[in-house]
Amino acid sequence: MLIKNVIVLTMNSNKDIIENGVVVIDNDVIVDIGGNELLSKYPDHEIIDGEEGILVPGFVNAHTHCAMTAFRSLGDDVADRLKRYLFPLEKMLVDKELVSLGSKYGICEMALSGVTTFADMYYYEDEVAKSTKEVGLRGVLGETIVDFVAPDADKAYEGLDYCQWFIDKWKEDELIIPSVAPHAPYTNDTEHLQKALNLAESKDVPILMHIAEMTYESEKYMKEYNLTPVQYLDKIGVLNSRMVGAHLIYVNNEDLRILKEKEVGISHNIGANAKGAHGVAPAYKMYNMNLKLGLGTDGPMSGNTLDIFTQMGLVAKIHKLVNNDRTIFSADQIVEMATLGGARALNLDSKIGSIEIGKKADLVIVETKSINMQPIYDYYSVLVYSANASNVSTVIVNGKVIVKDKALLTQDYSILTNEFKNIKNRVMSAARSL
Ligand SMILES: [Zn+2]
Repeated sequence: MLIKNVIVLTMNSNKDIIENGVVVIDNDVIVDIGGNELLSKYPDHEIIDGEEGILVPGFVNAHTHCAMTAFRSLGDDVADRLKRYLFPLEKMLVDKELVSLGSKYGICEMALSGVTTFADMYYYEDEVAKSTKEVGLRGVLGETIVDFVAPDADKAYEGLDYCQWFIDKWKEDELIIPSVAPHAPYTNDTEHLQKALNLAESKDVPILMHIAEMTYESEKYMKEYNLTPVQYLDKIGVLNSRMVGAHLIYVNNEDLRILKEKEVGISHNIGANAKGAHGVAPAYKMYNMNLKLGLGTDGPMSGNTLDIFTQMGLVAKIHKLVNNDRTIFSADQIVEMATLGGARALNLDSKIGSIEIGKKADLVIVETKSINMQPIYDYYSVLVYSANASNVSTVIVNGKVIVKDKALLTQDYSILTNEFKNIKNRVMSAARSL
């Protein structure tokens, strides 16, 4: 396959841009990048005409819970949403069917918006893996471990057993990276956090966790250990390069030093953090320290949308606002976090995150014909400030075209929407009973 007539934002270390570029794919790998001279070099390749669109590496959503599309738009503005709505609803409703359909719906939404890789933490993660395969995305999927009885566990910490089975089942799959996902430090005791890390080590998989997201979390570790959550996790030995921490809002300079030294991946989820009125993580500092920093949407009950375009705009604007400086976080840095940064956070940067020979063909064409896309003086600015998810026209994952002419090829969206209505009815009647 050969993509022509595109502006290639390579996101390589020079951030090279190739106008009127050509990218050649053999099977699942990028094998050549250049200009129109490549057309005669590969005469037999199937041609995709990018129609002057912008070709970018697939976006990485570094933190979500995609099955929670089932609960989207419910209780958005209430206080104590988590304990009042979410935990009771999950207890009542979360089963294999909800996770299967909810995740498929969310993954379709991600595919249509140009997300080619996502990291997910939830229950019944095996269902999420099956949905991911059906739609054709790349998923880093972590089964949740908590210290209470969970929707898919009869006793506390049973998620650890599920993880063992789940990792063994999916370990060799080319698109699924099964992972261990202790929910947060405050929902796992020290012993089980260490067990979770040991499991990740023994299976050679990532470990995903919410870290330093809540004020009560910081207060707990300060009171009990006189440490921040990051310092506590470091002290018990669970921070290393396989850890991907979501949020990391409440971190001080010493915490940032630890995160750098231990090569911890970070998902910055500004949309969800802003909506939850949590706080603003020091992402600009993190970026300048060259931490492994990507962008995430968080679950659709927290962040509502699953696309990275929304996050890019918010990251730029909120950090400029809180730092009172419109010059910080240039648009190319934001696009870098949304692609290569997310790949680094998930330890996948040797495979994905930039358009370079030898990397996997995870590619997105953002069309430039729509009214909101013109004029274009700076390609990065257009992606961060002008574009939205509906401008994504073509999505390729692992060399396979998933979205073409803005239509999903791997799922019948109308059937899925119909099936999803049953879930909505279940959620509605349960929510009324709360
Ligand atoms: Zn989350």
